[in-house]
Amino acid sequence: MGRYVGSVCRLCRRENLKMFLKGDRCYSDKCAFDRRGYAPGQHGQRRRKFSDYGIQLREKQKVKRMYGLLEGQFHGLFQKAERSRGITGTNLLIFLERRLDNVVYRLGFANSRIQGRQLVRHNHFMVNGKKMNIPSYLVKIGDVIKAREKSRKVAVISDAMDAVVRRGIPAWLELSKEDFRGTVKAYPIREELTMPIQEQLIVELYSK
Ligand code: SF4
Repeated sequence: MGRYVGSVCRLCRRENLKMFLKGDRCYSDKCAFDRRGYAPGQHGQRRRKFSDYGIQLREKQKVKRMYGLLEGQFHGLFQKAERSRGITGTNLLIFLERRLDNVVYRLGFANSRIQGRQLVRHNHFMVNGKKMNIPSYLVKIGDVIKAREKSRKVAVISDAMDAVVRRGIPAWLELSKEDFRGTVKAYPIREELTMPIQEQLIVELYSK
C-alpha cells in the first residue's frame, strides 16, 4: 500500500491522540483534535468496543503513523528489534527514534517528522561530513548531523529552529544552534520516550 496522502489530522482523531504531525498548527487553536476529539467519519462519535486484537492493532497503527512509516518498513524494523539483544518493544522504539528523519525533527531542524523526512530527502543534511538523504538511516552514538551551508537559509529550517524551544531537545541529543549541528550523545532510554505508547501490545500483535 502507498503512503497515506489524506489529512494527517484525521489520523490523530482516529488514534484518539494528539500526535503532533503538523508542526505549528498542532500548538494553535486550529488543532483538529482539540476541536473535534472524536474519530472521523459518520460514526466517529459512537462509542466503540475493541477486541484484544483490535486494541493491539490500534496501538501498532498509532506508533506507525506517529513516525510516518509504511507497514513494510515498520514490520522490518520490528524484525530487526526482535533479532537484537534486549526487550523487543523497547528496541523497536529506540530504532524508531534513531531514524534520521526523527532525529532531524528532534533536533529542531524540522517542525514535524514528515517535514524532517522531506528535508532529508532533499539533501539538506550531512552526517559525519557526508551528504545523507536516506530518512531511514539509523544514527549511531557520536554521529554529527549538520545542515548544509546553503540549507541554513531555508526558511522552513530556521523557522523550525526558532520554534523548537516549545518542545525542547531530548537529553540523548546535543544541539549547537549557531552552527546548525547536532550530535548523538547516547541512545535514548525508554523513560525518555514520553509519548503514551504500550509497545508490548505491538509485540503481542506481531507474535500471533
Ligand atoms: Fe494532530 Fe497536529 Fe492535526 Fe492537531 S493539528 S490533529 S495534533 S496533526
